[in-house]
Amino acid sequence: MMPETAMARRGLLIILSSPSGAGKSTLAGRLRDWDTDIRFSVSATTRAARSGEKDGREYHFVEESAFKSMVRDSEMLEHAFVFGNFYGSPRTPVQSAIEAGADVLFDIDWQGAQQIANSPLAPHVLSIFLLPPSITELRRRLESRGQDSADTIAKRMTRSWDEISHWDSYDYVLVNDDLDVTEDRLRTIITAERLRRTQQPGLMGHVRKLQDEFKDGLE
Ligand code: ADP
Ligand code: 5GP
Repeated sequence: MMPETAMARRGLLIILSSPSGAGKSTLAGRLRDWDTDIRFSVSATTRAARSGEKDGREYHFVEESAFKSMVRDSEMLEHAFVFGNFYGSPRTPVQSAIEAGADVLFDIDWQGAQQIANSPLAPHVLSIFLLPPSITELRRRLESRGQDSADTIAKRMTRSWDEISHWDSYDYVLVNDDLDVTEDRLRTIITAERLRRTQQPGLMGHVRKLQDEFKDGLE
């Protein structure tokens, strides 16, 4: 049951970035299982679906012309060209979720993170970067995922330094060594960030009530 003083909150835009293979999808899935108030932003992309991926679940798979018209019509909160394909976060689902008090989790690269951090939604952004414990372990994780060809893994490894070099523009940086420890730290960060003053629109009303009660007590 909600405590009597519980107040409505505004949702956070939680951005999770890392080099490919560091653990974003695994941890995003765990966070969603932890709290159903965390929703995923389903990106649009021009890349082909991988086996097991379903349109509308991992991504909205679209043609380049459809992607470009979404950008032209300002339907994307951010967009970027990554690994030879376009990726972007549709704006409308994000706005409705955060207004309803749910958090939206973005698995996006540093270019998208910077665009959102420089947008009018900046006061509600929580950005987190995941580092691997070592480059050897990063390669091992990419290989163990068994999802990509040797050629794709080599490309992802080449690009990983570009992604890692932007680590210092994020609010929090975690080394994802032990999965349970990282999950626990993410839960702690999200729990604290939800209590930021700017995330609690009902505070002003509550303080006014306290003030009235205070004045009544003096009379
Ligand atoms: P990303 O989404 O960042 O590309 P994934 O979440 O797909 O990365 O993780 C890549 C692989 O590494 C997966 O097989 C996942 O199970 C594994 N993995 C993720 N985090 C850890 C960790 N802390 N320790 C060991 N393996 C991990
Ligand atoms: P993948 O093709 O492996 O699913 O994703 C490749 C990269 O694109 C990952 O680093 C992922 O975080 C990034 N990405 C996925 N969706 C978006 C998006 O909507 N915007 C941006 N900027 N990057 C994205």
